[in-house]
Amino acid sequence: MSEAYDDANVFARILRGEIPCHKLYEDERTFAFMDIMPAVDGHALVIPKARVRNVLDCPAEDLAAVILTVQRLARAAREAFKADGVTIQQFNEAAGGQEVFHLHFHVMPRQMGERVRPLPRPYADKEILAAHAEMIRARL
Ligand code: AMP
Repeated sequence: MSEAYDDANVFARILRGEIPCHKLYEDERTFAFMDIMPAVDGHALVIPKARVRNVLDCPAEDLAAVILTVQRLARAAREAFKADGVTIQQFNEAAGGQEVFHLHFHVMPRQMGERVRPLPRPYADKEILAAHAEMIRARL
């Protein structure tokens, strides 16, 4: 029993170009951009272009496309940040930790022993975010 999709959510607005983002990648079904309040340097988000709330209501074709873009981003972020590993995270509904109700996967390059920044996280400096986005795009 999935909730309805809300077209006013912030990622829908990013997809419509109503609010800016640091774009990393786009194809027919998927879109990737920098998380504006990063848990670690290089924290990216991958979303479907379709109106999908989370994994629970995601059509198979969109889910398949999204996970392939997640893999592509994970590889690029790992190289860009010379990371020891990559954390991939995804939440479903408020009880599952979801805050923005458009399906998204977090892709976070991680150094050995590095902790994620505690919540609530500050907005990243725009220039730093732009530089990190360029580092990832260069490896895609
Ligand atoms: P969650 O739904 O719990 O996975 O969290 C939503 C994520 O979206 C958080 O990591 C936020 O920092 C991120 N976020 C919220 N607004 C924006 C935005 N305008 N641009 C990029 N990332 C955002």
